[in-house]
Amino acid sequence: MELILNNISYSDTINTKALNIFDPIIKNTLPSNYKYFIDDFEQFPLYNFLGAYKTPFKTNYHINIHTIEESKEWLQKFMDLHKVTMRETRGCTIKDVHYILSNRFHCIHSHAVKQKQGKKNNNESYVENTQIQDINCPVENTRIRDTNCPATLSIQVLKRSDPYPCSISLYFHHNHPLNSSHVMGFRPLSNETKSKIFRLFETGHNPGSAYHTYWEQLQLDYNNNEEILADRAMAPRKNDIFYLYKKHRDKHRVG
Ligand SMILES: [Zn+2]
Repeated sequence: MELILNNISYSDTINTKALNIFDPIIKNTLPSNYKYFIDDFEQFPLYNFLGAYKTPFKTNYHINIHTIEESKEWLQKFMDLHKVTMRETRGCTIKDVHYILSNRFHCIHSHAVKQKQGKKNNNESYVENTQIQDINCPVENTRIRDTNCPATLSIQVLKRSDPYPCSISLYFHHNHPLNSSHVMGFRPLSNETKSKIFRLFETGHNPGSAYHTYWEQLQLDYNNNEEILADRAMAPRKNDIFYLYKKHRDKHRVG
């Protein structure tokens, strides 16, 4: 037996009296337009993290997601919903066993992401798309990003023909605010933003004029909305534009 509330179903092992408390939390923290089956849910006391999300919890659930592409779309919606970035820290695609994908993510403000980024930078093969460094801009200090945030997310897409083949474990416990301008300043540029910038370069803009043109339009379109302007996904910084310009120039360089 299971209790169904709109698009969310709960295992009958969950205390139905507690549903009144955490059903709103589940609804507010998961992207809509999916079907969820919640296996378990546990709320725990907030530690002394100033400004952190006020209702930390952990939960396991299944979603009606069947492919790797669909799981990526869901993850993007989840990150957009909370204005936070979850970075893959371990992943694999496995064939001929029980699942086609198994990925683990840490919050971008975790030690794990910093350590993984450090290794990649040492190999000189890492194209960072969260904090781009440029010779014209001061080097970003990753220490201000690393708050040792414990939030994690695991996604497995199972090979099975039931309505909820995607399994998720979520440890929703960020030790920082989710929507501060500081945190949103670490969001990666969205693909839409990158496309707009590249279009400006294609019409002859240099990095400086592209930056001013883009920002003027952004401020106009969103009436100087502070939250939008703080969100790096939509509001690239100068060093981002320089980085994209370098990519654009390298791509079109002849010879
Ligand atoms: Zn976090």
